[in-house]
Amino acid sequence: MTATPQQDDCLFCKIVNGEIPSERVAESDRAIAFRDINPAAPVHVLVVPRRHEPNVGALATNAPDDLAALFELVTEVAEREGIAEHHRLVFNTGTHAGQTIFHAHGHVLGGKTFTER
Ligand code: 5GP
Ligand code: ZN
Repeated sequence: MTATPQQDDCLFCKIVNGEIPSERVAESDRAIAFRDINPAAPVHVLVVPRRHEPNVGALATNAPDDLAALFELVTEVAEREGIAEHHRLVFNTGTHAGQTIFHAHGHVLGGKTFTER
């Protein structure tokens, strides 16, 4: 039983529920963090609100407290992963930007020097 709005057939809702396994690195009452299955950097962690919203803008509009909690978890992940001083945080919105999972999430990337924008 959960009070958190979720969507059937959403991969990240299933990861939030534990229906699909993930390598969790941190969690809070409002968000979870787990390793990306196809890492683009030595550290690549996805930070995901438990609540289903299709993208970060919708999360900001519909659940600003969850967005704030997501950012708090980003900070915790960066500290735990040893990348607090140097990391990148990316949110893709829309297919043309590279969004493939339509449940809001931030990519926390680090452990390398980024040269490209
Ligand atoms: P997007 O492209 O939507 O910004 O990011 C989706 C991310 O989810 C991708 O980086 C992709 O590698 C990751 N991903 C897709 N399916 C899974 C999965 O089943 N488990 C994990 N841990 N990551 C996944
Ligand atoms: Zn979802």
